[in-house]
Amino acid sequence: MEKLRYERPVINRVQSGIPDKFGAKYRVEPRLEIDGHAVKELLRDHGSPVYVVSESTIRQSCRDIQRAFSVRYPKVQFAWSYKTNYLDAVCRIFHQEGFWAEVVSWFEYEKALGNGTDPKKVIFNGPGKTESELEQAIRQGSLIHIDHFDELYLIIRLSRKLPLKAKVAIRINMDTGIYPQWERFGFNYENGEAWNAVNRIMNSEHLELVGLHTHIGTYIMSTAAYGVAAAKMADLAVRTARKFSHMVKYLDMGGGFATSNTLKGAYLPGSDTCPTFDDYAEAITGALLSSEIRPEELPLLILETGRALIDDAGFLVGTVIANKRMASGRRAMITDIGVNHLFTSFWYEHTLLPGVPVTSNSEDTQVCGPLCMNIDVLRQAVRFPLLQPGDPVVIERIGAYNMTQWMQFITYRPRVVLAGTDGQIDIIRERENLETFRAQERVPERLRT
Ligand SMILES: *Cc1c(COP(=O)(O)O)cnc(C)c1O
Repeated sequence: MEKLRYERPVINRVQSGIPDKFGAKYRVEPRLEIDGHAVKELLRDHGSPVYVVSESTIRQSCRDIQRAFSVRYPKVQFAWSYKTNYLDAVCRIFHQEGFWAEVVSWFEYEKALGNGTDPKKVIFNGPGKTESELEQAIRQGSLIHIDHFDELYLIIRLSRKLPLKAKVAIRINMDTGIYPQWERFGFNYENGEAWNAVNRIMNSEHLELVGLHTHIGTYIMSTAAYGVAAAKMADLAVRTARKFSHMVKYLDMGGGFATSNTLKGAYLPGSDTCPTFDDYAEAITGALLSSEIRPEELPLLILETGRALIDDAGFLVGTVIANKRMASGRRAMITDIGVNHLFTSFWYEHTLLPGVPVTSNSEDTQVCGPLCMNIDVLRQAVRFPLLQPGDPVVIERIGAYNMTQWMQFITYRPRVVLAGTDGQIDIIRERENLETFRAQERVPERLRT
């Protein structure tokens, strides 16, 4: 029998929960494996920390969301939001599941084509498209979602000298009952700006209005907001059809579905408050089907769901560096996972789990990263069992936005591995090293000696 670990006894003031005669019951269950791979072995083989992406979780989410929408609406198409996770291997899983590409920069546009996406199935969003980018995208027949009037006029000017019509949609912002309302992107619905843009496009012989687009926000917990948005989109499509005898080919409802991560300051855990894909699908398709659009004219419904499809598939596995007791008496646990690689720790109370079996004793702990920066805190206060230096820790649900908003600050970005559906592990992004940076930097001749 393995010798049990000694833990120094501590006396804690009971602060929360309904205590029995032994105090408040609280137990943190360890996470020893990810898709059948022992976390200790992942660290041994790939270094610490390491990002792990679960292929089967991604594929399952894709199928769940496709089922939720396709049983409720005749024509549905998903597009993968590259900025949510742009790693080629990850994007290709989504493309294999039938997703188009949704990009918001030329970098992402080039990545999408590099991943074999048909340019006609690339949705080019964002407020920052340049003239030459627009021209190339129009020539390749991509779907251009216009953000503002200056972009619209630029496209009209560019299209005059091109042999083909530009395929365009407009991004629309609107009041859906959620606050703060996103008003920065696209044309406003309520003040008539969106209708004005539709009329300008329909009156230009060089543009083809193929769709209408909205993306009302992110981590939206209200499904009703999507119902309001879909009704307004349908209304605009109907008005366009009446005036110009032209029904748009698609209505793109954007992304923004919540995940089961818990927002900072939330009273209840995200797993309790997050609507299901069926809830969102019910709100959106209900509004579209009840609109005045005739059944034979129903446009394709496009969704650009990002975080809700990938968050659960991502893990960050790291190692405990040390424990210390701060002047306040609170325990601090230092890990090798910093906020530079866990950008979402600024919004979420991430689920942090021990990677080794633990006892039922836990203590109020501040979990910190390795950076020499006061803000490098993963959890301000979490009841956590005592781990030893060298023990693994696992952070769950980090698949969205961390592998794109990561910063190369103080330390190298770690390796990313994919846990495949057949039990294999593949490296999908190498850990950075000094060479990565030498390749980019230039030292002027006069500083070389
Ligand atoms: C970021 C973004 C998405 C994805 O948003 P999520 O909140 O991650 O679902 C979709 N569409 C557009 C236009 C975006 O900018």
